[in-house]
Amino acid sequence: MNLHEYQGKEILASFGVRIQRGIVARNAKEAVEAAKQLTQETGTGWHVIKAQVHAGGRGKGGGVKLAKNLKEVEELAESIIGMNLITPQTSAEGKKVHQVLVAEDVYYPGDSETNEFYMSVLLNRASGRNMIMYSTEGGMDIEEVAEKTPHLIFTEEIDPATGLLPFQARRVAFNLGLSGTSFKEMVKFVSALYKAYEASDSSLFEINPVLKTSDDKIMAVDAKVSIDDNALYRRKPYAEMRDLREENPIEVEAREVGLNYVDLDGNVGCMVNGAGLAMATMDLIKMAGGEPANFLDVGGTADAKRVEEAFRIILKDPNVKAILINIFGGIVRCDRVAQGVVDAYKNMGDSIQVPIIVRLQGTNAELAKEIIDNSGLAVHSAVQFQEAADKVKEVLA
Ligand code: GDP
Ligand code: MN
Repeated sequence: MNLHEYQGKEILASFGVRIQRGIVARNAKEAVEAAKQLTQETGTGWHVIKAQVHAGGRGKGGGVKLAKNLKEVEELAESIIGMNLITPQTSAEGKKVHQVLVAEDVYYPGDSETNEFYMSVLLNRASGRNMIMYSTEGGMDIEEVAEKTPHLIFTEEIDPATGLLPFQARRVAFNLGLSGTSFKEMVKFVSALYKAYEASDSSLFEINPVLKTSDDKIMAVDAKVSIDDNALYRRKPYAEMRDLREENPIEVEAREVGLNYVDLDGNVGCMVNGAGLAMATMDLIKMAGGEPANFLDVGGTADAKRVEEAFRIILKDPNVKAILINIFGGIVRCDRVAQGVVDAYKNMGDSIQVPIIVRLQGTNAELAKEIIDNSGLAVHSAVQFQEAADKVKEVLA
């Protein structure tokens, strides 16, 4: 689950990571109040107005602007809230901005002592360990740095048995070229950041830029935080930070009925039980010349009600030209699933306008095929994997 910058910063601050202070605002009036309050608390006269959407590259898209007085705060908040922000990371339509973060300006003009670093904490799947990835080249496209100057990106792997060791935090500060106060500040920053990552059950922390101010403070100016979905049950306060407006509406609905659904770009909807079989089915669709429109794992209980829910979800996607149902009947018997498909189809009446291919394999597979074939519905049945692929090819032709 992804969070907004302001929510990520809230989590960081709660673990003692220094952040650029800010207050979230939903309209221009709130933005002005926020700016006044920040001025009282920090003494800053200038503020940055930052669009809060789940996408990076906001600066490039015009979603991060500097305001030098309250009038500019009002004007910028007015223009940014409600806009469709298009950045290198959004679709062509962009993302609607519902709120802005009004933040203290922490860059002092003409100040050559300021430095922008890059830092992230994430799981290295190859080694099975968490790692801190960091670079002196922060503030811009880290992908470009990785491609053109990979030697400027450092990593520090963490042993799960010991956690981050003090010498490792010092090595980070050293490699970033720091000394004196800023060195000590960075050691504290890295330690607190790692603690926050672990204790919040996050799967990604990306802070770009980490700023060294001219008075040698180290702080997070941006925060991209992802919390591991599987840990949300025990992180209720973070789970409540979910912003459904930022998520794919079909995926949101699928989650509500307990289906594992991921929206994709293709034209063949699939309904499968088990993640492994779902992956294999997507391969099958590609081999047949189609593109999967979604990943959908209905799980172990493929009864009529569930099949119907899954149908409804798949049919919300206007790109779907055919549906492939591929269910392995182990605990759930194939004839039950077949009856479920037939019932769901009948219940849904006219709303199913696309050809459906059903492949049921496992317990009572032959009986299931009979049920489908005798139902009188426009459903193609298949028993073998290859048969299903051929039928997909046939209906797409
Ligand atoms: P992103 O573009 O979505 O990654 O958003 P960031 O939060 O990283 O902000 C983009 C850029 O805005 C940063 O790289 C900074 O250069 C700039 N920026 C952020 N905060 C301030 C600030 O307080 N003052 C000034 N002058 N610039 C800022
Ligand atoms: Mn950034």
